[in-house]
Amino acid sequence: MTATHCPYCALQCAMTLTPTLTPTPVTVTVTPREFPTNRGGLCRKGWTSAAVLTAPDRLTAPLVRDADGVLVETTWDHALDVVAERIKALQASYGDDSVAVFGGGGLTNEKAYALGKFARVALRTANVDYNGRFCMSSAAAAVNRSLGVDRGLPFPLTDLGGAGAILLVGSNLADTMPPAVAHLAAARDAGGLLVVDPRRSATAQLGLHLQATPGSDLALVLALTHVVLQEGLADTSYLAARTSGAEALYRSTAAWWPERAERVTGVPAGLIRQAARVLAAAAPVHGGAGAFVLTGRGAEQHSKGTDTVTACINLALALGLPGRVGSGYGSITGQGNGQGGREHGQKADQLPGYRSIADPAARAHVAGVWGVDPSSLPGPGKSAVELVNALGTDGGPRALLVHGSNLLVSAPRLASVRERLASLDLLVVADVVPSETALLADVVFPVTQWAEEDGTMTSLEGRVLRRRAAVAPPGTARSDLAVFAGLAARLGCSASFPVSPEEVFEELRRASAGGVADYSGISWERLDAGEVLYWPVPASGHPGTPRLFADSFGTPSGLARIVAVEHQAVADDLRADAPLYLVTGRLLEHYQSGAQTRRVPELLEAEPEVFAEIHPRVAASLGVADGGLIRLRTARGSLVCPARVTLDVRPDTIFVPFHFLGVNELTNDALDPVSKMPEFKACAVEATAVGRA
Ligand code: SF4
Repeated sequence: MTATHCPYCALQCAMTLTPTLTPTPVTVTVTPREFPTNRGGLCRKGWTSAAVLTAPDRLTAPLVRDADGVLVETTWDHALDVVAERIKALQASYGDDSVAVFGGGGLTNEKAYALGKFARVALRTANVDYNGRFCMSSAAAAVNRSLGVDRGLPFPLTDLGGAGAILLVGSNLADTMPPAVAHLAAARDAGGLLVVDPRRSATAQLGLHLQATPGSDLALVLALTHVVLQEGLADTSYLAARTSGAEALYRSTAAWWPERAERVTGVPAGLIRQAARVLAAAAPVHGGAGAFVLTGRGAEQHSKGTDTVTACINLALALGLPGRVGSGYGSITGQGNGQGGREHGQKADQLPGYRSIADPAARAHVAGVWGVDPSSLPGPGKSAVELVNALGTDGGPRALLVHGSNLLVSAPRLASVRERLASLDLLVVADVVPSETALLADVVFPVTQWAEEDGTMTSLEGRVLRRRAAVAPPGTARSDLAVFAGLAARLGCSASFPVSPEEVFEELRRASAGGVADYSGISWERLDAGEVLYWPVPASGHPGTPRLFADSFGTPSGLARIVAVEHQAVADDLRADAPLYLVTGRLLEHYQSGAQTRRVPELLEAEPEVFAEIHPRVAASLGVADGGLIRLRTARGSLVCPARVTLDVRPDTIFVPFHFLGVNELTNDALDPVSKMPEFKACAVEATAVGRA
């Protein structure tokens, strides 16, 4: 029996894996384990996760595309030789930045670290980024700007359990992380669960639902803050003692009286006032049990996502929540290692330890650990969408190595992504199954997955966890670490690239020392002994840091910065020929691009295909019945899928789950100017019944 954690989301539910050696092939039984985040529970994805290990089309040998354009099996040596030779030729002709690397928020800490080092030391390229840019970047940018340290939840998840009120902005925990809903129970029972979502999601049905127009969350939060300030509900002592720029709070929210916000958001003014009062009543300043403001992708995946999260942080600061035990602001990380994935250097602008790549001291420290000259390290690279848009263009990367990501499903504006990937001289994909992106590749490396490998992950709370191998990988599948080591050696790189995850972790510890996300005091021995370690852990005897910001924030002054923000319209807003909003989101049964969960029979049977939720009024105007086919058309592409007619979406909104190929043909790649997050969550769409003009 092996104690490990779920392969999917950032809740990292604890589970025990029991391999059964007969009948062959080996099967694995999953049983939940008691753990603070999941409290002995698993969702459907977790219960069925072992099926991905034995997916019928599991990649078991490297593939290289032959002269006829067919991917054929080969040896590791041959595949690595092919990739290394082509990289050398491209870099000789077009320079180091002609090769790019794209990582993933599901990679272990060790893989994320090694990927960033491989890109910067073995390839010497600035062009490295990862799919977390599509996931957490707005929250990360906002929190870094306002509070100085980005740890998704700067407190243990269990702290939510004592709260009297929780404002969830754009998060559907009941579908995305079902075991986490138990932590909302006290707030729900107290009438304090407040959910902002354009869709009446499973989570919204549990509490007071503020069904805002897509793209209007920022206006709604400004109005909530307006009520808090106008009605004298703010924690003025806290604002004076722990923040800077409080006058900006009053200035930026003064005009957002609830009646004005109602016109923008569609949420009744009375409901806005009620929600603000409920949240404030639970704040410590009013003797409440505690209150939290939490954001998810619904608030963050916008061209104004950073400002929307900033408004949420400002609201929390107005009520005196961050840094107080039992209260706070947090962002709910989605991907399995979405937290660790952004700390160890696979992001375009960062080095390990969550340090800026532009910081000379950080460059010197990390270069010392890597045994290279700091001046040899490239500077900041392009963010994910900018990187993809540059592929194959004049002066842009001509080769791309993808690890743990399925761009052809998950990136916005897919027609452009497909064109850019097709224009490359070399596309290399490392994956466990032939994902849509892998099927386009010139070379595919079969890599190990969760139950076949050791490593560490960092949960949505910033707690570092051990992943443990329970079964041997199939065929010749190897860790991504072996891909980096094999290529680095062939590229003539003298820096070491260990393939042992524990060795990589030891190096990661040293590289992170002194950084914001300091892992230097964490060891596998401590984790295996059951120690509960939240970063930063700056020394071997250090107990870890479950709660941040108790005495000061991570800004130079130690004060939280209040940054004035303004509501802005959706980048691709409604117009006569596209009169509805399209929003995308997740289903209980699937994870991310669906590359794993669409291969689990039970999950695929429950949700086999893409669909569009439409309001009965929209259905009537289109003449479409439940199950009838509709065509969705945006400025970027179109998609035909069945309609699900439901009162759970607004009459001006269509919801489509994003786990299926083709959905992101529709979405907009307009970027947030700070985080470079694309606006997945709102764009104008036209719906027509298929067969009609
Ligand atoms: Fe838990 Fe998330 Fe896995 Fe479901 S998918 S079992 S919520 S970690």
